[in-house]
Amino acid sequence: MTIKQFNTQCVHEGQLEDSQFKGGVSPLYMATNYSFGEEKKRYPRYFNTPNLEAVAQKVAALEGAEAGLVFSSGMAAISTAMLSYLSQGDHVVLQNDLYGGSRNFVKTEFPKYGITYTFTEGLEVADFEKAIQTNTKGIYLETPSNPLLKLVDLKAVAQLAQSRGLWSMIDNTFASPVNQNPIAFGIDVVMHSATKYLGGHSDISGGIVVGNRTVIERVFDSAKNLGGNMSEFSAWLLERSIKTLALRVQAQNANAQQIAEWLQDNAAVDQVYYPGLKTHPDHQLATQQMKGFGGMLSFSLQPGKSVERFLENLQLIKPVMSLAGVESTALSPRLTSHALLTEEERLAQEISPQLIRFSTGIEAVSDLLNDLETALIKA
Ligand SMILES: *Cc1c(COP(=O)(O)O)cnc(C)c1O
Repeated sequence: MTIKQFNTQCVHEGQLEDSQFKGGVSPLYMATNYSFGEEKKRYPRYFNTPNLEAVAQKVAALEGAEAGLVFSSGMAAISTAMLSYLSQGDHVVLQNDLYGGSRNFVKTEFPKYGITYTFTEGLEVADFEKAIQTNTKGIYLETPSNPLLKLVDLKAVAQLAQSRGLWSMIDNTFASPVNQNPIAFGIDVVMHSATKYLGGHSDISGGIVVGNRTVIERVFDSAKNLGGNMSEFSAWLLERSIKTLALRVQAQNANAQQIAEWLQDNAAVDQVYYPGLKTHPDHQLATQQMKGFGGMLSFSLQPGKSVERFLENLQLIKPVMSLAGVESTALSPRLTSHALLTEEERLAQEISPQLIRFSTGIEAVSDLLNDLETALIKA
């Protein structure tokens, strides 16, 4: 029986059969040694042990991809995928507003390999086109962006890449496969930090790359050398976590929409950034390429309100790094993710000192609103 519905795929796709004891969930196979007599030579760093294959199959199905590879972190997935597609002398077009870790990777590592890159000025298709050079090999995207939730037109950029013979790659972490499936718009390689929505409980480090078979063979050729495979136990835990992915993210979408609308009407709040708001500049695009608007939102406090006091006075919402767990969290980009930039650099990226990034959990929305209201008054 082929499973077609997303929620059913979350629960069942890729599950391993327990032929020995007939248990109802995937067994965990910790072995690092498998018989060489078998046709498939299994080994963790070949990314083909049973639990690694089970998760890869599940996420590939959720993204409408043919295959996948499961890594030990989001950055292992991203760095391996990029290096597998780039050689000395190549150039890549990178979307502005990239996740800090990806930006650091490119800036620190690419010069060592003789790979050059250009960050786009804006996020319009024309900005991507303008950045293409004669030795450009691909385009790298991340939409919605961090922390201002700006969108890039997936279909238009995929078409641009195809018309110029370039590959296209996306970090789909913020949307999760529940809200956005870039392969359907013509993007070649889709990546996730599984540490975020796929894991969803802030207790697994992981990454994933999915695409068609040719893409995955190419990434695998580098992956087996770079060795960033996920541990078997994490893979087993991740498979378990993804069973509730659709339920979790749908609850996060609903909570985030209500919170964004509520914040928009709050006198202590200046701007609210959420693609689900009709006032968001990319709202129309969001309805075209996203199935839900996501659990991430940002907002800025009015001048005179203190970000530090706001964060200190949250009781339920945790002021911690990272995102996408079932618990709501909030942070100041100036004090955390963007702390290494100068004030000028931050302002160039429109990151005001008053900005708060909010990762919506699955708590009762009334409890979250009460917590936000108290902290906003005390701020
Ligand atoms: C967290 C994150 C990453 C990196 O993932 P790790 O699991 O921390 O290596 C990459 N991209 C985005 C958008 C992220 O949020």
